Amino acid sequence: MDTKIFKRSLQQSEHYHRKGFGHGSEIMSVMSAEYQSSLIQQIRQNNYRWQEGKVTIHLAKAFGFCWGVERAVAMAYETRQHFPNKRIWITNEIIHNPSVNQRLLEMNVGFIEVINNHKDFSIVAKGDVVILPAFGASVTEMQLLNDKGCTIVDTTCPWVSKVWNSVEKHKKRHYTSIIHGKYLHEETVATSSFAGNYLVVLNLEQANYVCNYILNGGNKEDFLDKFKNAHSPGFNPNYDLEKLGIANQTTMLKSETEQISEIFEKTIIKKYGIATLNDHFMSFNTICNATQERQDAMLELVKKKLDLMVVIGGFNSSNTTHLQEIAIEQQLPSYHIDNATRINLNNTIEHKPLGRDLELKENWLQDGSIMVGVTSGASTPDIVVEAVIKKICTTKN
Ligand code: SF4
Repeated sequence: MDTKIFKRSLQQSEHYHRKGFGHGSEIMSVMSAEYQSSLIQQIRQNNYRWQEGKVTIHLAKAFGFCWGVERAVAMAYETRQHFPNKRIWITNEIIHNPSVNQRLLEMNVGFIEVINNHKDFSIVAKGDVVILPAFGASVTEMQLLNDKGCTIVDTTCPWVSKVWNSVEKHKKRHYTSIIHGKYLHEETVATSSFAGNYLVVLNLEQANYVCNYILNGGNKEDFLDKFKNAHSPGFNPNYDLEKLGIANQTTMLKSETEQISEIFEKTIIKKYGIATLNDHFMSFNTICNATQERQDAMLELVKKKLDLMVVIGGFNSSNTTHLQEIAIEQQLPSYHIDNATRINLNNTIEHKPLGRDLELKENWLQDGSIMVGVTSGASTPDIVVEAVIKKICTTKN
């Protein structure tokens, strides 16, 4: 299937919507009431610093809801208002935030169930309205919903669409897309569906492995086993690594994405010479602005003399996890939580260490005065950050 032609014809359909329905300002005031916080506003005005008793909070200068997430949530609210009597579904969580997703459930917006790692669309019927989340949906899903005769409300963030355009460019020139991302993440699943040949690399270690294979060869079966489920069907590392296009999931760690692109560029130069670089290599940085700003703010925040860091966001939120990585690199004790109920007044916290399951930590707030850094991922509303700050202050004071 020509994904570009399909997308264009879908966008021209009367059953496809990617702009709001004209209730924008009304919805924004509803969302402000539900998700904004006067305390966070005060902290912003106070140069991102807040003191209460023995606790000093330092808030990152960029954190929380990004433009793309706000837009997606607003469109979902608008969809409910615009189609009051229709059955409405979302192909996935609208964003990676449990409280926002819970709110949509309360508004009678259903989530497509995942059974044995596959989404079960059998519940969706002709005439239903289906919302595509901020991180997009695969071409196969869009086609299926279109074939079923659904109305599609597409909230895909334009930054994500930009990545899709990049891999379409690779495909047009018969380059293999090297996608820096998590192959199971919904955004990367969607991006892969627009690519021709592709390989998803998670980190520097995997990028180095691929580059070593390009330069020195290796065992094809071992290669395919290492990247099981992370490459296009029929991918052959002996032939499909000669022309490479780099793209990335919008929410990866910026510094790592830059390094990965550099490693591939150097490898291609070594293999084919600099004169033919453009015949073998193209790279687009598709990290989104919001992710960059939040990571830059975090890098600034960890320079302060903090005792610990609290990172707030959904446990499956990629951009939140990368914020936590920055704290860990600085050897700062950091606690990733999804909401304030993880903090208990007996000075314990249930948190998710990087790459591990939830753990309970006792006496996490030390005696005496403490400096706490706080940040949150792009899917976290201010009201959740407020609740966390209040809980820390109540526990400590
Ligand atoms: S994090 Fe970036 S790509 Fe994702 S929704 Fe926000 S602005 Fe869009």
